[in-house]
Amino acid sequence: KKRNPGETEFHQAVEEVLISIEPVLKKHPEYIEAGILERIVEPERQVIFRVPWVDDSGKVRVNRGFRVQFNSAIGPYKGGIRFHPSVYLGIIKFLGFEQIFKNSLTGLPIGGGKGGSDFDPKGKSDAEIMRFCQSFMTELYRHIGQDIDVPAGDIGVGAREIGYMYGQYKRIKNAYEAGVLTGKGLTYGGSLVRKQATGYGLIYFVREMLKEHGHSLEGKEVVISGSGNVAIYACEKAQSYGAKVVAMSDSSGYIYDEEGINLDTIKQIKEVERKRISEYVKYHPQAQYHEGRGLWNIKCDIALPCATQNDIDVEDAKALIANKVIAVGEGANMPCTNEALNLLIENNILVAPAKAANAGGVATSALEMSQNSMRLAWTFEEVDEKLDQIMVNIFNSAKQAAKEYGFEGNYVVGANIAGFLKVAEAMMAQGVV
Ligand code: NDP
Repeated sequence: KKRNPGETEFHQAVEEVLISIEPVLKKHPEYIEAGILERIVEPERQVIFRVPWVDDSGKVRVNRGFRVQFNSAIGPYKGGIRFHPSVYLGIIKFLGFEQIFKNSLTGLPIGGGKGGSDFDPKGKSDAEIMRFCQSFMTELYRHIGQDIDVPAGDIGVGAREIGYMYGQYKRIKNAYEAGVLTGKGLTYGGSLVRKQATGYGLIYFVREMLKEHGHSLEGKEVVISGSGNVAIYACEKAQSYGAKVVAMSDSSGYIYDEEGINLDTIKQIKEVERKRISEYVKYHPQAQYHEGRGLWNIKCDIALPCATQNDIDVEDAKALIANKVIAVGEGANMPCTNEALNLLIENNILVAPAKAANAGGVATSALEMSQNSMRLAWTFEEVDEKLDQIMVNIFNSAKQAAKEYGFEGNYVVGANIAGFLKVAEAMMAQGVV
C-alpha cells in the first residue's frame, strides 16, 4: 500500500488473491524465494498519456489515457479498454492484475493487461466519440501489436469504439494486422459470439456450478445489475435456460418486472437508442422503475452483478442472504467487496468468481485472434461450442484446485489458485525477468 498509495481497488484485488494463495505458498516456498509475489504485483510496464480532442463546439478537451501491461509470462498482454469518468491508475491496475489470472484460467496463451481513459462517453455525439478514439489510438498504437498487446472492449467501449480505434491503428501502421484488437465488427475480422461471449460464458459457468450442487437455472428468479454488454447477454442465455429475469439496472436506477424482463425492449433502449433504463416502463407499464440503489433487496434465487466493481457491499450481501439467494455469479470484475464475498461464502451461498465466470469474453477474444491469424471465420455454432467447453474447463479447474487445497466448493479460492499456479510456473521457468 505504501508503494501504491491511494490505489484502493488495486489493493483490494491483490489482497483477495494473496490471501487465497497462502496454501500454495506453503507447498511451494520456492515461489517466495524467487520473488514471484513481488514481481506479480508490479506491472511490467505502465503507460500514461495525454488524449487531446476537440468537441463539437470547437473546444479543446484533454483526457488521460492508460495502458498497463501487467504480465506476459504466458502470452501477449490481453485485456480491455474502459472509458468511464471514474478511471484512474488504481482501477486500471486492479483490472490488469485480475486479468493475469483470468487469462491463465482460459487455458489459452494470453498474458494480462488493461487500459482506458477517464473520458465519459455519455452524452457525446458520434463524431466526438470518433475523434476521441482516434486521438487515444494515436498514442496507444506505439505500445500494442498482435504479438505484443491486444486490447478489447470494457465499460464504455463496444464495437463502435473498437471500430474507430482499429481504423486509426490501420491508418497509422499501413498494414493488415487484424489481431491487434478484438471485439471488431464482423465485416473486418471480428468473431461471431464475441458480443455475447461474456454474458453467455457467465451463464455456462453458473450452469455448471448449479449442476454440481443439484440445482439448475430452470424456473429460477434472477436479478441482474447493469444493462450493458455483459448484462444483456447473461439475461439472454439465462432466459434460454428457463430462468425468469425480474430486474435489471443502469447507473441511474433499476427496473422490476414481475412478468419477466422483455430483453428486446432492453436491447432497443440500450444498444440502439443508448437511453436510460427508466424508458422501459413506457413500453411495459406493469413494470416499476426505482431511482438509485436497492436492486439487491429484490428477492431472487440467483444474483448476477454485471455492472461494475464493488456493486455488492456487506449490506447488500446480508439482504441477499436473508432472501435465501442460492448463487451469486460475478459477471462484472470485482463486483463484490471482499467483506461481502466472505459473508456470502460463510453463509454457503455458491459464488461464481469473476476471474473464472466472466472469462468467456477474453477467451472468445483469443479465439478471434486465432481466426485472424488463420484468416478464417468460424460459424456461430463452432465458436459457441468452444466457448461452452472453455467455461466447463474453467469450472473444473477451479473445482479441482479448491478440492486439492482443502477448500471444496469455494470457487473463489479455487479460481485464484488455479490461475496463479500456471503463471507462477511460467515465471519460474523464465528466470528473474
Ligand atoms: P457496458 O459499458 O456495456 O455496461 C456497463 C453497465 O454497468 C451499464 O448498464 C452501466 O450503466 C453500468 N455501470 C457502469 N458503471 C457503473 C457505476 N459506476 N455504477 C452503476 N452502474 C454502472 O460494460 P460491460 O457490460 O462491457 O462491462 C460490465 C462489467 O463486466 C465490467 O465490470 C467489466 O469490467 C466486466 N467485463 C466485461 C467484459 C466484456 O466482454 N465486455 C469481459 C469481462 C468482464 P450506465 O449505462 O448508466 O453507465
